[in-house]
Amino acid sequence: MIAQNIRSVEERIQAACKRAGRSREEVTLICVTKTMPVEDLQQAYDAGQRSFGENRVQEIVDKVPQLPGDIQWHMIGHLQRNKAKYLMDRVVMIHSVDSAALAQAVSKEAVKAGRVMDILLEVNVAEEESKFGLTCAGVLPLIREISPLPGIRIRGLMTVAPYTDDPETNRVYFKKLRELAVDIDHQSIDNVSMDFLSMGMTGDFEVAIEEGATHIRVGTAIFGKRNYDL
Ligand SMILES: *Cc1c(COP(=O)(O)O)cnc(C)c1O
Repeated sequence: MIAQNIRSVEERIQAACKRAGRSREEVTLICVTKTMPVEDLQQAYDAGQRSFGENRVQEIVDKVPQLPGDIQWHMIGHLQRNKAKYLMDRVVMIHSVDSAALAQAVSKEAVKAGRVMDILLEVNVAEEESKFGLTCAGVLPLIREISPLPGIRIRGLMTVAPYTDDPETNRVYFKKLRELAVDIDHQSIDNVSMDFLSMGMTGDFEVAIEEGATHIRVGTAIFGKRNYDL
């Protein structure tokens, strides 16, 4: 089932890349594995997947030692400052940095761990009350503040678009995120690159690819509905 779902997601990714005139290699599929048992993650691994995304530190800590060592783990959920230290030897990138205080905590722990952590800044492009993330206007000031910090490298932007039945309604937000990245890139700030755009989920990843996503985060289309009551 999971292998089959991955095949169908893969076909849709390829079709979207083709429509957009992009090469498949420009888009990383992150399998979002939150709430899923390690057996399901293993199935995705066996089907060839190597990039997994989780939104809770505890789940990353629990799952990483139970799965093969060549998986690239991505932290995609809201992160508390005091938990940044648990990610240093576990994840390749944190997609959800949205404050100077959090960037400072990540920086401090990365320096302690002797590594450089790739980070994305989370932007609440649609300005939904219920969501974390910076406003578009808040991104550049934050980048200016945190770009000198050691131990972190700002690689781009991330957004969680509104939940919708019609993916086309999110195109405007994906466009806006890409335009913001282009604007920031033009500032040529030291230690800042805007080569990654993490956007697009089960409901809207094809539109996100058409608008320039480099990382799509797909859970439900691969693993089925999540049960948060377990
Ligand atoms: C859960 C989650 C996803 C995946 O959502 P689906 O709709 O199941 O594909 C993507 N990004 C973030 C930040 C998430 O928390």
